[in-house]
Amino acid sequence: RDGARPGGPRAPRLAPATAPATPEIQRAARQAPRPGSQTLDRRVDDDEDTRRKAAGAASKPISRAKGATQRREGRLTIQAVAGDDEGAVERMRSLASVRRAREREREKRKGGVQEQARVSREVVIPDVITVAELSNRMATRGVDVIKFLMRQGMMVKINDVIDSDTAELIATEFGHTVKRVSDSDVEEGFLGAEDMDEHMEVRAPVVAVMGHVDHGKTSLLDSLRQADVAAGEQGGITQHIGAYQVKLPNGQKVTFLDTPGHAAFTAMRARGADVTDIVVLVVAADDGVMPQTIEAIQHAKAANTPIIVAVNKMDKPDANPTRVINELLQHEIVAESLGGETQVIEVSALKKTGLNDLIEAILLQAEVLELKANPDRTAEGVVIESKIDRGRGAVSTVLVKRGTLKRGDIVVAGAKFGRVRALLNERDEQVPSAGPAEPVEVLGLDGAPSPGEAFAVVESEARARELTEYRIRLKREKAGAPIASGVSMADFMAKMQDKKISEMPVIIKADVQGSAEAIVGSLDKLATDEVRARIILSGAGAISDSDVMLAKGSGAPILGFNVRATSQARQLAEREGVEIRYYSIIYDLLDDVKGVMSGLLAPEQRETFLGNARVLQVFDITRVGKVAGCRVTEGVVRRGARVRIVRNDIVVLELGVLQTLKRFKEEVAEVGNGVECGMAFQGFQDIQEGDVIECFTIEEVKRSL
Ligand code: GDP
Repeated sequence: RDGARPGGPRAPRLAPATAPATPEIQRAARQAPRPGSQTLDRRVDDDEDTRRKAAGAASKPISRAKGATQRREGRLTIQAVAGDDEGAVERMRSLASVRRAREREREKRKGGVQEQARVSREVVIPDVITVAELSNRMATRGVDVIKFLMRQGMMVKINDVIDSDTAELIATEFGHTVKRVSDSDVEEGFLGAEDMDEHMEVRAPVVAVMGHVDHGKTSLLDSLRQADVAAGEQGGITQHIGAYQVKLPNGQKVTFLDTPGHAAFTAMRARGADVTDIVVLVVAADDGVMPQTIEAIQHAKAANTPIIVAVNKMDKPDANPTRVINELLQHEIVAESLGGETQVIEVSALKKTGLNDLIEAILLQAEVLELKANPDRTAEGVVIESKIDRGRGAVSTVLVKRGTLKRGDIVVAGAKFGRVRALLNERDEQVPSAGPAEPVEVLGLDGAPSPGEAFAVVESEARARELTEYRIRLKREKAGAPIASGVSMADFMAKMQDKKISEMPVIIKADVQGSAEAIVGSLDKLATDEVRARIILSGAGAISDSDVMLAKGSGAPILGFNVRATSQARQLAEREGVEIRYYSIIYDLLDDVKGVMSGLLAPEQRETFLGNARVLQVFDITRVGKVAGCRVTEGVVRRGARVRIVRNDIVVLELGVLQTLKRFKEEVAEVGNGVECGMAFQGFQDIQEGDVIECFTIEEVKRSL
């Protein structure tokens, strides 16, 4: 009977409950025959029994409590009775062991489940997995897994997908340990943890040059790099997005982002890449503050990036820097000469004057910012620009934020990856590596990642593949999804639940400057100590795509008053998931904002005392844990209400909700004064006699402005 049991000899591994029979009998077999009554004992023999016998306590098999043992004893008793001597048992044993030996032999030949189980591996199980892949990871044959599942009543084919729970069950049954991973886990560790202070070294500042068109951004960037490109340029819009690093005679370095105005700056910010440390705002001395100057100021302020003003074209006869300084004052840029914080430098990009002062100012600002990074680690940074070059393949300009990027590294940038084949600096020279704040062109990626996407070096190609495959899948899923995650009033409601923000950023666009100011004024009046609207930008005119990018970058919805979005902006907003709301009545707008801001107010919590109960006795119940037998001494105790445990007038624990409340064996909803009841507290095992359980409810009262 024993030997015929399926999986006999190795059964212990899979089903410990049926295990003891076999070793016992074997052990019994090894022992010399003794008079009948003792044989019984010996056969049910286990270590405990041996010990007991040794202690002289005559252990009668019947007295044993365990059901399984009793059964076994019963069976053996009958055998013993039938054989009535040791010889019979001996014969039985041989037969069983022969069967077992055969069984073992057969298992070995077919390389069964149990054989495989000997090597315990850590099996990584993702959200879903095919049977084939799972068996692969367990180094088991697929048929064995299928057989196992069949025995569990699950019919699967080798390429069927099973969920992670089933997969985990299988893996543990096969004797492996399991590591559950979720799809998004692959992102974990892509960007490393913060660096320790002692590893930080001073790095070069990253500077973006912004300003109104034709005020001389390109000329300035060019003269800073001592190469004149703008001279041959028509119009003034620069097409190239790149970066370069200037090395100063004293060895210091400054990295300039060679971006065409604000678009790139904001686009990068929208993707969460704040690479710019300092903004140089170029204002032509003969032209003064212009719309794009204002826009640049707003963008820089939204990003919390310090501004250095370069008053350009000082060589012109009608240059008027004082006027520029005064105009900037209206936009809360207070020059140092007026007692403010902003450095204003007069330059001429054309005549190359004042450039040293400008660089000096940048370095000073950089020193204030204490820019540091750890160069001694795997590189991480941001993609600044990328293109597919005929002949060279994908060429991406990246800015290393920390660590050192080396040739041969495996890089993942967005959904693209590759081994770095070559690194080129701004002078088109091959370099072996690039450290913090150094921009380099990277050759070797399998495609062009988007500007603003983060890149990082990963340890292996497999890891790179895993990451990019996940991201590509995610992108595809997102493209299919109707609404991209973005910025909307509803999002605020959701975020508000986390109570993380008490500030509501908004962008206001109105038909005329006057109404924009009126709206801003009214919103300011709504502000309280706890919540306020933060106006990222307010202005007159249609909602442009630059507004949308700014909105995306700063997580603010756009409120339009008597204006519409340009079709470009509308499409962009749709794509980026930025909400644009239109109003024609100021009060509607204010009401909406008020509504969201009221939501931002943390609700008031009002506590109502329900009753007290004293713990009379504590019971330890298997599987349930500690259960407190209590008597209600005051008020009532209610299931579902909140409880706290008070010991000697000190609150030991604020517990969540009282989940178990019993009266005799019945679950009850409420127990009144003077009545005894039982309570269990999940996760809290330190309940003691004499503790007082205070029961109360918390009411959340919404507040409004
Ligand atoms: P961007 O549109 O801001 O990039 O401006 P550009 O750099 O293309 O310059 C616009 C025009 O202003 C060009 O014709 C430049 O030659 C001219 N310009 C730039 N800087 C100076 C300067 O310092 N002095 C004078 N006189 N002209 C300048």
